[in-house]
Formats: sequence, structure tokens, C-alpha cells
Amino acid sequence: MKDSTPNILKQITIVGGGSAGWMTAAALSRMLPTGDVKITLVESEQIGTIGVGEATIPDMINFNKLLGISESEFIKATNGTFKLGIEFNDWGKLGDSYFHPFGGHGVDMNGVDFHQYWLHTLAAGNTCDLEDYSICAVAAKQNKFVLPEQNPNSVLSHLRYAYHFDATAYAAYLRKYAEQRGVKRIEGKIASVQQHTDTGNIAGLTLEDGTTVGGELFFDCSGFRSLLLGDTLGVKFRDWSHWLPCNTAQTVATEQTDKVLPFTRSTAKTAGWQWRIPTQQRVGNGHIYCDRFMGHDLARQILLDGLDSKPISEVRTIQFKTGCQEAFWEKNCIGIGLSAGFLEPLESTSLFLIQQGISRFISLYPDAGLHPVIRNEYNRLMTREFEQVRDFIILHYKATTRDDSPFWRYVRDMEIPDSLTHKMTLFQQGGRVFRDDHELFTRSSWVAVMVGQGIFPKTFDPILANIPVADIQRSLNSMKQAMEQSVARLPDHAMFIEKYTAMQ
Ligand code: FAD
Repeated sequence: MKDSTPNILKQITIVGGGSAGWMTAAALSRMLPTGDVKITLVESEQIGTIGVGEATIPDMINFNKLLGISESEFIKATNGTFKLGIEFNDWGKLGDSYFHPFGGHGVDMNGVDFHQYWLHTLAAGNTCDLEDYSICAVAAKQNKFVLPEQNPNSVLSHLRYAYHFDATAYAAYLRKYAEQRGVKRIEGKIASVQQHTDTGNIAGLTLEDGTTVGGELFFDCSGFRSLLLGDTLGVKFRDWSHWLPCNTAQTVATEQTDKVLPFTRSTAKTAGWQWRIPTQQRVGNGHIYCDRFMGHDLARQILLDGLDSKPISEVRTIQFKTGCQEAFWEKNCIGIGLSAGFLEPLESTSLFLIQQGISRFISLYPDAGLHPVIRNEYNRLMTREFEQVRDFIILHYKATTRDDSPFWRYVRDMEIPDSLTHKMTLFQQGGRVFRDDHELFTRSSWVAVMVGQGIFPKTFDPILANIPVADIQRSLNSMKQAMEQSVARLPDHAMFIEKYTAMQ
């Protein structure tokens, strides 16, 4: 990749040094021809970064691999832990609990999805939950962890995982990485942005101390402010708050408890939900809610009441609006990170969307100049990406029977995008889920949330009707037994981390 990338761009400038800025700088410094393209990053310590973003999905592993980062070094440097999925409490109805595992459920047989077999046995009296056949869910509930086995015959080969980590430490780690590869960092607050009068392209930046920074291509990683894409180029924001109404988060860190859990917990509250994300030495907590339905003081009280250990930081309040930009790439500027959009952190997708923004740019690298066709394709792909993730997140709110507050009645009864109605109806009819081209969430993710929140299909796949249910039940029993036996031998999550990070 490095040698074959044509050398046309001479100067790339990145605005912002949060996760988005440093992930972009690190990836470009690795992938583009060093020495030929100068990369500069401007950030302001005075403004600072958002400082949250601790939970990820498995694609993060690929990003680190692309950069050649050692996993054990990364875990150590970022206070990282492993994540096998998300436990959702009180979402479908009060008192409910389900697990959305990475890596799916059971094993598909004869080309038919595993959940169809499970649905068949349910009708015949099976009382096991779908997640009882997920190796990730079984391990997570016993607080166990190990890396996936290579042997495809082992149930442990189906383990999939991601990380929880300290996002500020990760940005610092990537800064070092990028600077070692020639990225120049400039400290200072941008006071004004200049545009070419003929094209409207961004020409340069002027900092408060008078320093000027030029560039041919600019990455806007300036966070919610969207300094270049929104403020300067006037790109309009697609507001999705009628579907995702939460607009405020209050966050607080707490002491680590005796168990370092290998999963994120999300507990639905009266007008939103609360997260619990364990890193090695502390637990990150946050209460996300909609301030049209709840006052800030009550929200703070709910956050504090929902903690399971002592706070070790002040409570911080962050306001946001859900949605994304109408264009992610406008003129000579690409928005990555919060400047491009935000969909609330329910399924930990923000850092993934940053990754996608970077990898789409690299795959569409403008070797023949900044042609509109490249820009349009980038915008098409990123819009699709945001819309697909949006639908999956809306599903969690829509698929509820909660009736205990105006917030839940609103999300339960709201109109949803046609694309989501289509997916939910297909599932309700015959348990069918189809994964769209390049869609992030797998069929088993959709099934986990739909079933977990009480959507059950009217019938199972008719192809299975002729298979004796007793035979299917036997296969399911032996799968479950194999998982339980394998998990029983696994190390405790905290012990695994200790050994793994000592290996360096
Ligand atoms: P920021 O971190 O805000 O960085 C902006 C940068 O721009 C800073 O360096 C700032 O100094 C610079 N800047 C701005 N204006 C100027 C200026 N005028 N001059 C110079 N520099 C400037 N994501 C996940 O993947 N998982 C999660 O669990 C998760 N949880 C979240 C919880 C909440 C409540 C929120 C709000 C977000 C969460 N996210 C999560 C999203 C995640 O935090 C962000 O996607 C990620 O941190 C990237 O942020 P950023 O770099 O775009 O912006």
C-alpha cells in the first residue's frame, strides 16, 4: 500500500487532537508515503478534548493491527480491559435483562441461521435463552476471558471481543506513534479560517498567536464545534433527535470493584439510560438522557444512585445533538469524529465510525486530484454507514413495551425510518434478518436485540419443519454443554489481563 499510493497531495492538515484527530494522523502517517505528504495536526490544550469514549466494538482490533500496534502494549498503555458484549437491563420492559454478544449465537447449520433452530425448539418447550448458546455471553456472565482459539473445531474459536479503555490515554499513545512517523503537531487555538475566493476551498488557518497553517486537504476533527465543515463551509446538520432524543450526558468515574467485568452494562432509566464501563483501575459511568423529559438535578441523582462503587471524579455534563452532516466531505475538507456526527454511545460505534471515515478516505485516495466523483462516493458510503448504525440504535428504543414514563411512551410510539420498519416487520413475520452490503451489525446482533427486547416472530423458518425437534434439541444441548465445559476452564478476566500485560 505504502509504495503504490500515488504522490499528489503535498500537505494534509488535521484540525483537532482528540481520538478522531490522532487516529487520523496515526493511520495516514502509516499508510501514506512518508516524506512526500506532510501531515500537520493543530490542537488546543485550552479547549481540550471531549474525554469520553471508552467502549469499542471488535473492529478496533483491526485498526490497531493496521498500525502494527502490539495488543498487550496497547492494553497496558490505555488501562484497557476486554469486552465480550453489552448487558442491557430494563430495556424491553422493567426487570428484563439480555446480553448482546459479539460473535453471535450457536452455529448456523445447513445454511439456516442458528436462531431459527432455537425458535423451533422454543415452540416445543425449550426454556433456554438465545444467549445461553453464545460463547461470549456464557464467558462474560462468569467473568472469564481468553483470546479466541485458532482451531475452528473449538467453541472458543467463536469468541469475539473488543476493548474498554481510557480514551485520553489512547489519544496520547497515538500522538507518540504519529509524531515518530513525522506528523508535526502545532499547539494553539485557531482564531480564523481562510478560504480561496474562487473555489471556496479552505486555504489555511490562523491561530490566536498569529501563526498560519496551510494545506491542500483538511481533516476537520474539531469535535462538536465542527469548525471547518459546519462553521466555515456551512454544511447543514441532519438532525435525528426526533428518533434519538437523548441530548445530555452526566459522567463520573468510580473505583474499580472486586470484579473487572468483561462487558459493558447499559441500564435503561426513566428518560434515557446509564452506562457502566470497566477499565483496569476505574469504572466509567454516565447517564444519558433527554432534558425535555428530565431535569438535570434529577438526572444527576439517578446517575449517583445507579453507581456500584465510590465516585473518584467530579460529575461532568456534556450536551450533544444526534445526527450527522449532510456531507462528510465538502470541497477540500473531510469531517471525522464528532464534527461529522454523533449517534449516542449505546452500541459503542463512534470510534468505529472514525475508523470507517479514515479507511474510506484511504480506499478513495484522491490520486487524480479532488474530483467530485470521489467526494460523492465518500459521502454516499459514509451516509449509508451512519444510517445503518442509526437504525440499529433506534431499534433499542422502539422495541419496548415500557409505559412508565413520558419518555418511554414517546420512543415506543414514535414513527421510525422505513428501513427499520422493513427490518422489524421481516423479523416479526418469519424470524428473517438480512444483512445489507457492508452493514456493520450482523444478523445475530439484530436478532439479539429484537429477541432480547421481546420481539418474537410469528413462526420459524419452514425449512426446519421436517426436522424432528428432538434432534435439534439434542444438537443445541451438546453445543451448550461444550460451551459451559470450555468456559469453566478459562481464566478470570482480571487474571488474564495481568498475565497478558506482563508478557511484554
Ligand atoms: P474531541 O475529543 O472533542 O476533540 C476535538 C479537538 O479539536 C480537540 O483537540 C480540540 O482542542 C480541537 N479544537 C476544537 N476547536 C479548536 C480550535 N478552535 N483550535 C484548535 N483546536 C481546536 N465513542 C465510542 O466509541 N465509545 C464510547 O463509549 C463513547 N462514549 C461517549 C459518551 C459521550 C457522552 C459522548 C459525548 C461521546 C462518546 N463517544 C464514544 C464518542 C467519542 O467520545 C468521540 O467520538 C471521540 O472521542 C472523538 O472525539 P473527537 O476527536 O471528534 O472530538
